[in-house]
Amino acid sequence: MGNHLKLKAYGKINLALDVLRKREDGYHEVRMIMQTVGIYDQVDLLRKREPGITVETNLTYLPVNENNLAYRAAQLLMEEFSVKQGLHIQLRKFLPVAAGMAGGSSDAAAVMFGVNKMFQLGLSTEALMERGVKIGADVPYCIMRGTALSEGIGEKLTPLPPMPQCHVVIAKPGISVSTRYVYENLHANELKPEQHPDIDGMTAAIQAQDLPQVADKLGNVLELVTAERYPVIQEIKEVMKMGGALNALMSGSGPTVFGLFTDPDAAQRVYEELRYGTRSRLAKQVYRTNFYNTRQEES
Ligand code: ATP
Repeated sequence: MGNHLKLKAYGKINLALDVLRKREDGYHEVRMIMQTVGIYDQVDLLRKREPGITVETNLTYLPVNENNLAYRAAQLLMEEFSVKQGLHIQLRKFLPVAAGMAGGSSDAAAVMFGVNKMFQLGLSTEALMERGVKIGADVPYCIMRGTALSEGIGEKLTPLPPMPQCHVVIAKPGISVSTRYVYENLHANELKPEQHPDIDGMTAAIQAQDLPQVADKLGNVLELVTAERYPVIQEIKEVMKMGGALNALMSGSGPTVFGLFTDPDAAQRVYEELRYGTRSRLAKQVYRTNFYNTRQEES
């Protein structure tokens, strides 16, 4: 049994995000097309002889107790299986926090995968996903990864064929957006039909491996709240589209924006412009990446 596991917790973007309605219990029913991208947090698990869970992270403002999703993920499994030994979790965060890229959920997913392996709990991927939803709605998807349709509150997952590869530029403005604020201000039950993104059209475009059609169908109903409040989101989208992106969209509840490019040089130019150039005031973190479609593994 290994005493040290090195894992990668990949982030996601939403190629499409729709909110169908607010349920009576306060949860929102969603339909989302999820896609893993090649940016990740490094998650190291170290077995300890003494019991208990400890967390260490390079971002001093993140909690290191049960308010950290990585801690909670370990606790959930270790309590259920009465694991006597302890665990130290080292989180090196590269994914932007509170950004719509499911960073915390992905850390939790990696920890669940790793704890299952390290302590030989014998849980299947499906069994991990069932438990993951107790930590957060995006955790089952982060365990599964790849291209997927996500429904319900995010726990009903249908794998889709991997997205045709393209170049992705991701930019996060220097603002924080609370997911709760965005959902509360959406007034989901009053949306007009034309305000809903075409999730079935996006699914069909992915099945047909038709990248221009995918780009055409990008849509996120939460832009109605976040982009309305923060004009910088629209500004970044414009920079990406003017620079040659097939299209650009806000991910999750924002404020992260991504653009899809077929031309690598155009992607590189937009990346440099937002990172170092004349438009660098718009974004605090900028990345150039691809879609990532490999299953969870030790690496
Ligand atoms: P989503 O795409 O699911 O909306 P997000 O990118 O908006 O996710 P996260 O980065 O996962 O949000 O974090 C949101 C909040 O969760 C932060 O304010 C942070 O304090 C808390 N949090 C708890 N654990 C973690 C973690 N391991 N990494 C990042 N944030 C965490």
